[in-house]
Amino acid sequence: MPKFPIKREELPPGGNLCSYCTALCCHYYALPMDEPTTWNDFDNIRWFMLHGTVTVYVQDEIWYLCTYQVCRHLQPDYRCGIYETRPQICREYSTTHCDYDDKGLHDMLFETPEQIWEYAEAILPPKRQKKSKTGSSLDLPILN
Ligand code: SF4
Ligand code: SF4
Repeated sequence: MPKFPIKREELPPGGNLCSYCTALCCHYYALPMDEPTTWNDFDNIRWFMLHGTVTVYVQDEIWYLCTYQVCRHLQPDYRCGIYETRPQICREYSTTHCDYDDKGLHDMLFETPEQIWEYAEAILPPKRQKKSKTGSSLDLPILN
């Protein structure tokens, strides 16, 4: 199936958008987290993101840690294998603001550890440095 075979506004009356979707919302979960404000905070986020399929995004001023893992109950036809007993969070999720056909859901999106680090460098004061035994400066990336 193409990723978005129809546009939202083309959904026929009584139609279900999920029938045209590859279950994007069953391929990840995201948890809100405190807004990072220190080098330590950003270094911890960098560590999370070093684990592979992890992104960070900001939506309506809330920061989220997002990990891409497919739900074990997603079926090959993109339907839920435990529809009758699916978790409450799945029941409450609606197509109104879902990922389908989304072109700009997030205010900010960081897809790599390098991107989050560049952002930290842009908004935080310079990292403190200390002299090495040879007299050259050393970056201390996790100092506040
Ligand atoms: S809620 Fe949205 S993202 Fe999830 S399956 Fe339905 S159309 Fe796709
Ligand atoms: S339980 Fe069903 S609806 Fe919920 S994430 Fe898994 S496959 Fe999707």
